[in-house]
Amino acid sequence: MREFDLIARIRDRAALRDDVVLGIGDDAALLQPPAQAQLVVTMDTLNAGVHFPPGTAPADIGWKALAVNLSDLAAMGARPAWCTLSLSLPDASADWIDAFLDGFLALAAQHGVALVGGDTTRGPLSVGVTAHGLVAPGRALRRDAAQPGDDVWVTGSLGDAAAALALLDHTPGVSSALRLRLDRPTPRVAAGEALAGVAHACVDVSDGLLADLGHICAASGVGATIAVDDLPASDALRALGGDAEQHRQWQASGGDDYELCFTAAVAQRDAVRAALSPLDLACTRIGSIVDGTGVLARTRDGDRWQPGGAGGYRHF
Ligand code: ADP
Ligand code: MG
Repeated sequence: MREFDLIARIRDRAALRDDVVLGIGDDAALLQPPAQAQLVVTMDTLNAGVHFPPGTAPADIGWKALAVNLSDLAAMGARPAWCTLSLSLPDASADWIDAFLDGFLALAAQHGVALVGGDTTRGPLSVGVTAHGLVAPGRALRRDAAQPGDDVWVTGSLGDAAAALALLDHTPGVSSALRLRLDRPTPRVAAGEALAGVAHACVDVSDGLLADLGHICAASGVGATIAVDDLPASDALRALGGDAEQHRQWQASGGDDYELCFTAAVAQRDAVRAALSPLDLACTRIGSIVDGTGVLARTRDGDRWQPGGAGGYRHF
């Protein structure tokens, strides 16, 4: 397939929105944001072998490329609106692009996001997405807004994706529930929007809970204490059984969870639960913001707990 056939294939399937004045096909897209909104912009790239294991299905790559970006918008409390897609492909296979779009556009449709442009080049497999969202002025959830005394909360459950990745190579039939969390993460978009105006600081958990909560602490000039044995686990993760320390590692520093970790005043506990109650999504209090710096994790026995390895994924 030639570049323009490939782009035409994408354009034919991309849904539009009323606020897309001009989508795929011109030199740039033309979008009409509402008068009273702030534009929230984020970009994340997925590289083969770094962000997804070799052999990941193209539909899963498509889903995840958008999901990780919508997760960033969720962490800002923004409502997703538009996205662009930069594709670097070793070859232009119609089957690959169709399958990729199946995953990408299924998630876009769930959130009413319009794909409005992009770029297509030949090279090692790499997928870059820019996502644009909207938030009412002053309501965005920032990393620098945590206050001493705040509760620390996390949505959903932690550790599934890390467990799936760890078991992938040597465990036949890794539980499909775990594998789904790795390949098809659910961005917590509705939760982020519901928490805007209720929570103080927020971050999405992509590099591991302790590392990402550490970003909130650094940006806010505070510390945090976490009960590592209170981190929420899915039924699928618990069903694995085995070494408790291994589970702590997956849950506290595994990464790829795409849950939201946020802080809120103690007086807002009921408000937090009320905001999230319509969503069929667990939320768990896992610790507190304190004066000081850094994240201190403790086990049920009161011992200080530290992750093995570098503590959070780092590219360099
Ligand atoms: P230009 O040479 O002016 O940059 P391109 O030929 O790269 O234009 O792209 C033509 C149109 O197709 C543009 O509107 C661009 O946004 C869109 N486009 C290119 N690649 C993609 C892609 N992977 N996904 C969505 N839109 C794309
Ligand atoms: Mg171009």
